Amino acid sequence: AIAVLGSTNMDLVAYVPKAPHPGETVTGREFRTVPGGKGANQAVAAARLGGEVVMIGAVGADEFGVRLRAALAASGVETAALRTVEGASGTAHITVDDEGANSIIVIPGANGRVTGLEPGDDSRIGAADCLLLQLELPLEAVLAGARAARAHGVRTVLTPAPAQPLPAELLAATDLLVPNEHEAAALTGLTDPHRAAEALLREVPEVVITLGAAGSLYAARGRAPLTVPAPRVRAVDTTAAGDTFVGALAVALGEGRPVPEALRWASVAAALSVQRPGAQSSMPTRTETDTAALA
Ligand code: ADP
Repeated sequence: AIAVLGSTNMDLVAYVPKAPHPGETVTGREFRTVPGGKGANQAVAAARLGGEVVMIGAVGADEFGVRLRAALAASGVETAALRTVEGASGTAHITVDDEGANSIIVIPGANGRVTGLEPGDDSRIGAADCLLLQLELPLEAVLAGARAARAHGVRTVLTPAPAQPLPAELLAATDLLVPNEHEAAALTGLTDPHRAAEALLREVPEVVITLGAAGSLYAARGRAPLTVPAPRVRAVDTTAAGDTFVGALAVALGEGRPVPEALRWASVAAALSVQRPGAQSSMPTRTETDTAALA
């Protein structure tokens, strides 16, 4: 099973021809509310792709919270460890332009009130094959999850987003780090992904740097780096491409598939997601991904 300790947000998405500059007003084409949040996105991606997934985190006591929980459940994610706490759910205010590029403001809401593990979380993490972590919960909660996983010998996969300096203890408890190229540069000060990967391998045993339409770069201690191309597709909305990639990777690795095959399959799943609008709404099913992977 896959445990996810992370955020749940309602994405408030404005589709605009071109994102406004500060002080500018533009007329957009469309507005949608779509369940998102990096944690929930990774959970849904993995569950749609056939993973058995438990989500640990919190939603607010508002309408968004009800919808966010329902969306997770509808994709087959176990939500018993998703708390409902006082106040607003997390929200992400997203602008997507005609090129498919996005800019995002995240307001943590309920996610900000997850400061550690609750009774039962430790055994949920201990029962999993891997724990997926991101940085949209307070760092103390992420650390508590990573510690619990370590104590149980459970593999930890950390998406270091949004980018921020990582405490040594968190890096030490991370098995696989999956930054995008911007996060890798922020962590290392190196813009060349190969050099950034090399630097990150001093901190963690395995790294995947995602490179958008250019694919991804896998590096592990004592192995030659591996570049995985992304399928050439027409991107309409790249929101959650990275989360789809990580969810898919966790499923494939959990099934015991070799890393190169797992990475290729994750790229196929992520490429399917960028061809449709939204975060969770864009994520492919197992059948779609297996079919596209054969094509
Ligand atoms: P994030 O969404 O975290 O910024 P990336 O943009 O690097 O991450 O995307 C993650 C993965 O999704 C990439 O490694 C790639 O496999 C896939 N992907 C992203 N954008 C595209 C695209 N335009 N075409 C095909 N695949 C893409």
